[in-house]
Formats: sequence, C-alpha cells, structure tokens
Amino acid sequence: VSVSELTESSLSAIAEHDSKVHAFLTLNEEGARATARVLDDKLASGAARGLLFGLPAGIKDNIVTKGLRTTCASQFLTNFQPIYDATVVSKLRQADAVTIGKLNMDEFAMGGSNENSSFGAVRNPWDLERVPGGSSGGSAAAVAAGEVFFTLGSDTGGSIRQPASYCGVVGLKPTYGLVSRYGLVAFASSLDQIGPITRTVEDSAYVLQAIAGYDAQDSTSAKVSIPDYLSSLTGDISGLRIAVPKEYIGEGVDASVRESVLSALSVLEGLGAVWEEVSLPHTEYAVAAYYLLSSSEASSNLARFDGVRYGVRVDEGGGLLDLYHNSRSQGFGPEVKRRIMLGTYALSSGYYDAYYLKAQKVRTLIKQDFDEVFKKYDVVIGPTAPTTAFKLGSQTEDPLTMYLNDILTIPVSLAGIPAISIPCGFAEGLPVGLQIIGKEFDESTVLRVAHAFE
Ligand code: GLN
Repeated sequence: VSVSELTESSLSAIAEHDSKVHAFLTLNEEGARATARVLDDKLASGAARGLLFGLPAGIKDNIVTKGLRTTCASQFLTNFQPIYDATVVSKLRQADAVTIGKLNMDEFAMGGSNENSSFGAVRNPWDLERVPGGSSGGSAAAVAAGEVFFTLGSDTGGSIRQPASYCGVVGLKPTYGLVSRYGLVAFASSLDQIGPITRTVEDSAYVLQAIAGYDAQDSTSAKVSIPDYLSSLTGDISGLRIAVPKEYIGEGVDASVRESVLSALSVLEGLGAVWEEVSLPHTEYAVAAYYLLSSSEASSNLARFDGVRYGVRVDEGGGLLDLYHNSRSQGFGPEVKRRIMLGTYALSSGYYDAYYLKAQKVRTLIKQDFDEVFKKYDVVIGPTAPTTAFKLGSQTEDPLTMYLNDILTIPVSLAGIPAISIPCGFAEGLPVGLQIIGKEFDESTVLRVAHAFE
C-alpha cells in the first residue's frame, strides 16, 4: 500500500469510530495528506526510509505542534496555535511518521479517567459506558479502536500505563530524562515523561527508538547512549529474576486482576523466569507524596496561564489583577483549580517543611525501596491498576477514590524508573494490564520481558 492509502484508511477509521469514542480533539487532515504525498514520492525515488515510515500517528494534546491547535483539553487554550514543534514531534517527522491529529486527555493531564477534558470525555472502545483511563485516554482509545497505528502520551503518575491497561494496549513510560520534554506542556516537571502507546511491544520498541535521546533544549534530558531496543526482543528470558511486591497484589486489588497477573507470572515461569514475593514498604505513602509534589509543581507551572500570554483573556476593565483572576477563574476546570489550590497551600511559607519537604523525603524512601529490590532482581512485576475500566461518572464525585486508582503506577513515577503496561488477560470481558518495571535506563530488559510474554 502507499502512504496515502494508509493515511486515508486511518482517516476513515476515525470517521467511522470517533463519533462514539471521541479520542480526537483536532484532525490534521490536510497536513497528513500533504506529508503522505511527500513520503510516496520518497518511496518512488528509492530514497532511504525513516524508522516509522508512513505510519499514521496521533499525539496527545499537551505536546505542542507548530500551527496545529494544541489545547491540553482545556478551554483556556481553545484556540492556541503553537509556533514550534516539540522535540518528539520533530523526531517523528524525521522518522517519516504521519501526524493524523491531536488526542483528547484530562485537562492539563490531571486525572485518571479522561472525564476532566473540557471538550467531553473519551469512551473505552471495549465498552462505551466505561472510561478509557487517563490522562492519556484519547491516546490509548485511538490505538485500541484501530484509528491510528501508534500514539504518544505523557505519564506523570500513570497516565500512559493506566489507560493502556484499561484499553488493552501497550503503554511505555520511559526512564525520566530519556525522552525530551521540550514542547510538552508541563504539569509536574520532575515527573512528566512522554512515551509510546501501541498495539504490540515490538511497535513500542520502534517508537521509543525514534523518540529517545539527549536534547539540549530540555535541562533534565539525560546524556546516555541509546541502545538498539529492537535487538533486545530476543524472546529469551531464561534465568530472569522477577520480584513481585506483596503490596501490589494484596488488599485493594480486585481478585480477578490478581488472578490474571498470577497466571501471567506462571507463563513467564514457563519461559524460564523465576519469581519471588518481595516488599516495597513505603508504597502506602506514595499517593499522598505524589499529589503533594505534583500539585506543588503544577501550581507553579500553571502560573503562566494568566490571560496575558496564552489563551483565554477575560478583560472587564478592572485592571491587571482582575484580568488574572477572571481569566483563571473562567479558563480552568474544577480539577485543575483543586490542584493549584492544594499546591499553592503546600508551598506557602510556614508549611513548606511540613508538606513539601516531607513529601520529598518520602520520594527518596520510595526510590530506595526499588534500589534495594533491584540489587537482587531484574524486573518488578505487578498489575498496572487495581481494577479494570470503571463506568463513566462512577468516581467523579469522589476525588480521593479516583486518586487511589494510581497507587500502583505512582511509585514508579516518583522513582523515575521505566515501566510498561501490556495486556495480560480479561476480567469480565475487560482488559487487564500487567506492569513490568525496570531499573533506570534499562528499557531493553523491560521490552524483552514484555515481548517474551506477548
Ligand atoms: N491520574 C494521575 C493524576 O491525576 C496521573 C496523571 C498523569 O500521569 N498525568 O495526577
């Protein structure tokens, strides 16, 4: 097939499914067709082809795309047209992928169900009455619905892995610093990472290969050499040592999810791996520390949305402070306001030691829990989320229950280490995700184990 045909088939899949799924916020039809024509010419000329040649891709709407509307699913940015491309977007172009459009999400990536989008919730393609997870819900649903070949999401506390789990697709959160954050609209800068959502582990390795690498534009970008991820997909995991934290399969995790994970572990055993139960003793403090730290960083990062520089401006002639106040009151949704208030409070003088500093210390303890386990084991495995996809509207009244959904993904984010979610079975007809966690910058092992399982 030609790239133009592939592009058209993606656009028609979107025309067919997206009125129900609502994964896309903006389509790049003209741009995608123009790129496809250029790539078809390249194909005809016999020139060298990029790693992702001709593949239709979707991009989460908190990743800036030059001249293509980028909203972060916030009414604040309803008409925002960025003037530059994020580094990952340039890298996808260099790899000859085709950007089909921008994907729905929770507003500013705050949420775990996609119900916090200013432009309407995304629905889970497996059951339209259920959430796709979040915040990269559009990115996971678009792949699950077969609308595009792969997508990019962002993960701060689980936002790639949890929606991948709920939608039965593969989602990889790389090590902090492996993929450039330049052009990712910041939520919590010390945690945010961009990563691929795909159908298969092999696809995940391809996309990671294309987007990983040092970038001088991102001050926290890591100067590490990038291995050949594809060559790690050997299928061989004999002798692999797996740690299974008892905190990840205990109370609070649905029995059906636990069963799926245990049977996945016996498949891995059958392939020559061994697993043992371990403890990550500080797991129970992770959610509290995460919401404190991420909200603190968010309160600072989102100060730039003041009605002067970006998006909505509500000017009623009352002067600058009124302009700030009115623009922010009308521009931000309720969850974003909740986090800004929490973060501002936590950082206010007099409270810093009691909250922010304390949370930083907990973060260190959580990292040390993992360091200790990785002295003896190659990977840590557990479920990605305690449950399968829940019904739309069932948790919106109760932010705390919603926050607790992230209990198994947040520790990994706080530790800055890589993890992948892959489908490992079904519970009552809904996909269950297996989370494979690795040492920092050891995406190769994570991918190898995931691929062997698949
Ligand atoms: N659900 C988590 C939150 O609401 C994670 C979000 C994310 O990773 N962007 O903060």
